[in-house]
Amino acid sequence: MPARVTRQSEPQVAPQGWKGIPAQKLLKRCELCEWRCGVDRTAGQRGPCGLGIETRILRQYVSVTEELEVIPALRVYLGGCNFRCRFCDTAPDCLEPDRGDLPDPGTYAHELAGAVGRGVQSISVLGGEPTLHAHTLLEWAAAAPTPLPLVVNTNLYMTGEVLEVLEGVVTRYLADLKFGNDACAQRLAGVPHYSDVVRRNLTWIAGRTPLIVRHLLMPGHLECCLRPVAEWLAANLPGTRFQLYAGFVPCWQAGTVGLGRLNSREEVRAALDLLDTLDLNWRAGGNDKA
Ligand code: SF4
Repeated sequence: MPARVTRQSEPQVAPQGWKGIPAQKLLKRCELCEWRCGVDRTAGQRGPCGLGIETRILRQYVSVTEELEVIPALRVYLGGCNFRCRFCDTAPDCLEPDRGDLPDPGTYAHELAGAVGRGVQSISVLGGEPTLHAHTLLEWAAAAPTPLPLVVNTNLYMTGEVLEVLEGVVTRYLADLKFGNDACAQRLAGVPHYSDVVRRNLTWIAGRTPLIVRHLLMPGHLECCLRPVAEWLAANLPGTRFQLYAGFVPCWQAGTVGLGRLNSREEVRAALDLLDTLDLNWRAGGNDKA
């Protein structure tokens, strides 16, 4: 798919009454992500993400800690993930897809629309990996009585088919560009072919949907991860809105992969100095836990 890179426009709300495509078709031979494991999720088969057809809500709350473009945001956590990031701050909950509440999609879509009516600027869906629930996002968009400003936090490992079916439904992507090379992706998250997939998807998204690219600075990973991430973005998608999260907190199994500490002041300073040299629309922030 050729890349079309244009200036980002203001977010549009998802089209009202959008019917989407049937969940059965998306999930019958699942290729929602680049594992492309092909299981029949409608028949109870489970792939690496462990998900069937259900979408469970792990938790939700209104947040003002994200980027200015999206706050106040109703953050909605969905279970199930296709990555195994050893430093994940929602593991192990997000890795157990049978946890959480199971609302009726139509009823829940009305609840989300109600939250928008009460003043939240975005419905910020995260996980886990929310694009593994593309069928549910389509259902919510179709069932909502008013357009939903759906913001999707993603690890960018979806297939091109998923990007296509979500076009016009997702109003903004908050895209985690986590690793600068395939070796770190494999070692820290257990994911193959990382760079090709996420760079392809970013290029596709950038021409079509408002986008903020995030990077969590990991201790000791400035040269192998932040530098190639930032330099690739500046060279291929110049002017991209980029958010550096420097407040790394060692969570879950971070200590088993050499990430059992905070970033030092020197590492953070070096990261900011690097970004200053590049053609990126960048800002820096912490994160919820920091
Ligand atoms: S979303 Fe889950 S079931 Fe579908 S291809 Fe990816 S890992 Fe397999």
